[in-house]
Amino acid sequence: DPRIPKIASSIRVIPDFPKPGIMFQDITTLLLDTEAFKDTIDIFVERYKGKGISVVAGVEARGFIFGPPIALAIGAKFVPMRKPKKLPGKVISEEYSLEYGTDKIEMHVGAVEPGERAIIIDDLIATGGTLAAAIRLLERVGVKIVECACVIELPELNGREKLGEAPLFILVTSD
Ligand code: IMP
Repeated sequence: DPRIPKIASSIRVIPDFPKPGIMFQDITTLLLDTEAFKDTIDIFVERYKGKGISVVAGVEARGFIFGPPIALAIGAKFVPMRKPKKLPGKVISEEYSLEYGTDKIEMHVGAVEPGERAIIIDDLIATGGTLAAAIRLLERVGVKIVECACVIELPELNGREKLGEAPLFILVTSD
């Protein structure tokens, strides 16, 4: 796709953020580039429109940037998958491991129905732990994961192996 190189070059890399040794992939510069941002959304919409997808689940925080415009364009609802204690209603949650300790993501009870078809959106997959937890959470309530979609993959961490049967679609590989 000829749009991909411009999307890739619009992403800024910031060394040593949030700690020494990390090369942080910063998508805020993609958002400043009106063509790259539009192309990013368009590529996802072209892929998922007309596929019977009724749920776009976005992972906090940057899944909240890319998810809603895709949901609107394909006629699906947007479901936020949030960090703990942010959602005001009754939630179901799913724990996942971090380098040190664990974290959780949460979703409102009743946001989705068994049998719905979903895509899960985030900006980036690293170890895959976050997306794997989002998959488990949605599968627990009977939702079919059609695909996970990210702008960026860090392939050395083999995150896609954690996603089980769920396919992963990415725009940019970062090494
Ligand atoms: P994982 O669970 O290890 O795959 O980490 C993915 C999560 O961490 C996503 O929600 C990302 O937004 C975030 N993340 C990890 N590294 C980066 C980065 O370099 N840039 C932006 N987000 C990152």
